[in-house]
Amino acid sequence: MVKKDERQKGAKGQTNLDHIRVAVASVSKDMCRYSWTLPDESLNLRMKDHFSSLLFGGSITNTILELVLLAAPFVAMGMNGQVSTLLNVKGSMTFLELSVFFFVCSTVRRVYNAYLEAVYFSFQNLRTQPPKEHLLKQKKDLMGRDMEQLEILDGHDKWTMISQFLLNFGLYFCLPGYYPSPHEPQSLQERFLRLLLNHYVMSFGMYWAHRSLHEVPFLWEHIHCIHHWAKHPLSRNTYEDHWFDNFFNAIVGHCYAQILVPLDRPTFWFSRIFRILESLEKHSGVSCGFNIAHSMQQWLPFAQMPHHHDWHHEGFKGSNYTFSSIGGLWDCLFGTRKSGRANHSATREDRNGKSNVMQDLPARWFSPLLPLVGLTVLVSIKLHGSF
Ligand SMILES: [Zn+2]
Ligand SMILES: [Zn+2]
Repeated sequence: MVKKDERQKGAKGQTNLDHIRVAVASVSKDMCRYSWTLPDESLNLRMKDHFSSLLFGGSITNTILELVLLAAPFVAMGMNGQVSTLLNVKGSMTFLELSVFFFVCSTVRRVYNAYLEAVYFSFQNLRTQPPKEHLLKQKKDLMGRDMEQLEILDGHDKWTMISQFLLNFGLYFCLPGYYPSPHEPQSLQERFLRLLLNHYVMSFGMYWAHRSLHEVPFLWEHIHCIHHWAKHPLSRNTYEDHWFDNFFNAIVGHCYAQILVPLDRPTFWFSRIFRILESLEKHSGVSCGFNIAHSMQQWLPFAQMPHHHDWHHEGFKGSNYTFSSIGGLWDCLFGTRKSGRANHSATREDRNGKSNVMQDLPARWFSPLLPLVGLTVLVSIKLHGSF
């Protein structure tokens, strides 16, 4: 956190932070649509007018860093033909496919983020929180963060990119087979069952990680509250966390699930892209048929919609409920589901009202970190076995 007394006065009486603020504000104004204000409705804008830049986010430096990290593997392969084959890990997809995979994921993130925000700005009637909730008394962005908070998030974005890059490629070289090779296809039925199971395991890890981040005071104060500065989430808010929040979730979520219930190559691709859509939708500020990933899983028992996570953000520290990342099963099972502003996309559980019953942890001695310890033990056993 930047402390006020640490700021040094510049030659013309402006603080260094003021200079940064002006720079960030001008960048945000140019590169990221509707950071501070909603669009002028009297202009009768069409949906295509609301698309923000597909390539650049609010920060040019972070965009360049992302491009460098995406290009680095291709550069490594291009330097020498022989290096390219040396980089391949036996039993995994090729290094080239892995590099293309991360490039595709990044593109999907950008395009789907722009799509969801265009939906949000185009259809006022579909917004989960009514527009009056966005009327801000102080200088804050549409999600409720002030300049100082945005600068801190900007720093965490950089560390998120670097730590995820190291984790992603570290897993490739340290765990052969983690990124599935094309030589071990599964039958359609097996793919379907494994996908369901993998997602529920992933959701289980992420549920308890998220619940710990709320219920363990240290984790809330130093890690997770940063993500909750956004009280009116938009999809651009999805990965704006403390870098360790993203890192921790990647390990106990995707990583543990792929080790315990490995998916084959096509299902792995589908699952990761599906998860990107699902994560962005949860923060989209709309809860409706435009949310493709949530609509696809509505048939599942206890399925949730984006308005559940929206309500989770609206409550800030008081929002110790609705922790599930996908599916919603664990919130219903462990008594932490709340329906929030269900509006026209209410689920079965929202309508029957049972979702509002909150339950405490099973016992005083129980820590929400314990299920994660159990999951880690299972992963260790699997890693020392046949994986
Ligand atoms: Zn949270
Ligand atoms: Zn969130």
